[in-house]
Amino acid sequence: MPATHTPSVGPAAPTSNPGSIFDARADQILATLRSGGQFKHLRTIEGPMDRTVRVSGYGECLCFCSNNYLGLANHPEVVEAGVKALRDYGAGTASVRFICGTFAPHETLEQTIASYMGTQASYTFVSCWNANEAVFATLCEPGDCIISDELNHASIIDAIRLATVIKKGLHKSVYKNNSIDGLRDRLREARANKEVTGQVWVVTDGVFSMEGSIADLPAMRALCDEFGALLVVDDSHGHGVMGKTGRGTHEHWGMVGTPALGTPALGTPALRAGPLGQVDVFTGTLGKALGGGAGGLIAASRRTIDLIIQRGRPTLFSNALPVTVACSANKAIEVLVREPQRVAKLRDNVAYAREQLGAAGFDVLKSPTAILPIIVHDTAKAIAMSKRLLELGVFVIGFGFPVVAEGHARLRVQVSAAHERGDIDGLVAALKKL
Ligand code: PLP
Repeated sequence: MPATHTPSVGPAAPTSNPGSIFDARADQILATLRSGGQFKHLRTIEGPMDRTVRVSGYGECLCFCSNNYLGLANHPEVVEAGVKALRDYGAGTASVRFICGTFAPHETLEQTIASYMGTQASYTFVSCWNANEAVFATLCEPGDCIISDELNHASIIDAIRLATVIKKGLHKSVYKNNSIDGLRDRLREARANKEVTGQVWVVTDGVFSMEGSIADLPAMRALCDEFGALLVVDDSHGHGVMGKTGRGTHEHWGMVGTPALGTPALGTPALRAGPLGQVDVFTGTLGKALGGGAGGLIAASRRTIDLIIQRGRPTLFSNALPVTVACSANKAIEVLVREPQRVAKLRDNVAYAREQLGAAGFDVLKSPTAILPIIVHDTAKAIAMSKRLLELGVFVIGFGFPVVAEGHARLRVQVSAAHERGDIDGLVAALKKL
């Protein structure tokens, strides 16, 4: 603040501003990011999310960086559902849910989600970050142990940190990404630890968001059963993408609870589907394939959801998902279930994109997911490539530290059912020019 400036209200400004420790530290971090070419620029979108988007300063660009996997973010029915909700219910209840903050659309959405995921019940949050925070801090107790994949999403990592602070005596350990041997070792250690007297939990992303790889859920289920552990899966990038009807990574592996459509009656025992068994607790987002607005979910047994409602701090102390978003998400799931051809088109597009990128000499992991990372190692390089792509009319984001480990920077290409083959050809042509 200039020394001559005097605020119109409040005490007079100091004649000199020595700056705080924080100011100096923040300036230094930001300067380092700028000089190292690692400063992120938030791109402004001037229209709806679709196969193309209008990016401020760059015009209409092919969009390959959104999680709009099924192209539902701007679907007319999804938009109309939100508009109608605003008219019918206003902006919100101005309350947390257990006081007077639950609208009928929240309950409808939660039934829809339970049916879609094949679980007894579900509960929604303003984000999956919130849902993950609720899961461990609410369900775990001292003496329990949480075992987590090293590449799990930041929200899971922070949720575990939070839970171990809230519940002193709650243990945690980490295994190498997707390593079943590593997980077995951690499970053995947990069972050998005299201080682990309670429940053991294993948590994984269904689809790893930076790798585009998938968790081996059948092998994990078998290990969990062997060691008496419960399996938690965050399938934020699996919803709408994985499995024949887009239910998620559990459907890909043939692990959907029965009945797949239709929530079982209250009080029925936990569902156990087929020889591969089932996932115990799901978390996920409504902010990607399932409407793309925002929102998180937990889908699980009735008793799990009851405990979340009774004891979850994000449940008890934070407002509900906005009702407009609840109605849009509900419509998005309805459209997804009604039009499985969207999932099939996404699958075709993913296969085509992998094939074309491979043919152009890019090393892309073999996987059925819609996330195709191209590893370039250096963060500044990834950011510069992303900027050049925008100049070429293609929107792809470069990811570096701290989103991925140092030296593992990448361009992350994300394919949508909204894309046509010509769009994918356009992407590959632009990448070849870099
Ligand atoms: N979990 C995973 C695996 C994610 O990829 C993300 C989003 O990037 C989240 C959780 C957070 O989702 P939300 O945006 O709903 O908080």
